[in-house]
Amino acid sequence: MINNKPIVGISGSVYKDANGRFPGYRLSFVNEDYVTSVENEGGVPFIIPVTTNKQVISNQVDQIDGLVLSGGVDVNPLSYDEEPLQNQGAILPERDEFEIELVRATIDAGKPVFAICRGMHILNIAYGGTLYQDIEYISEPAIKHEQESSPWVESHTVHMEEGSYLHELFGEKVLTNSFHHQVVKDVAPDFTVTARADDGVIEGMEKKGDRSVFAVQWHPEMMTTKHENMRKLFNDFVERVASNLKVVK
Ligand code: MN
Repeated sequence: MINNKPIVGISGSVYKDANGRFPGYRLSFVNEDYVTSVENEGGVPFIIPVTTNKQVISNQVDQIDGLVLSGGVDVNPLSYDEEPLQNQGAILPERDEFEIELVRATIDAGKPVFAICRGMHILNIAYGGTLYQDIEYISEPAIKHEQESSPWVESHTVHMEEGSYLHELFGEKVLTNSFHHQVVKDVAPDFTVTARADDGVIEGMEKKGDRSVFAVQWHPEMMTTKHENMRKLFNDFVERVASNLKVVK
């Protein structure tokens, strides 16, 4: 039971309105299932809009107790010193800049971070890691990671590394959805792999010596209403943010 309801920031994105009165107008948004997944476990969700003003980002971090780094479009390969290859997808460079600064500032402030899909890629890059710009650039044949079924459908198996936070939460393995064509290549030095798919693709990471900073490659927020086990990630995160608050105060 949480007495002190923690404020959980969710990194936002920019959506260019396709229809409506002002086509092309820029909207600040997150998918609603991030909001409900946090709220259903006792957290108070806040959407954090994209900005590249470092002072504003610092002020945003002051207002939150923990951060969910959300999913979205591909990360700009220039952010990890690679030129774009043929299969690189659309990018939103200002969002990369925003989230890299946001996640570093949140971790510097000692606040928990839960990174999802693109969020895991941003977390990895922010601390010196790199990506495969497309799964086809992995030399070994990979399983299908861009499922074509509904968002909540369990699509492939994820195996947890023993001793990791994800192993503690899920045990040996879990079934997940999968909506990514980019994959973590070099793991940032401060991080360790906590989960992999059958083909070796990295599906989870955590910060060495700090389990309150962790990431998953799949989209648990899309699964929470249909698969009770995925609520554990949000429930445990919200509790973690709440107990971290008590330590800080
Ligand atoms: Mn996958």
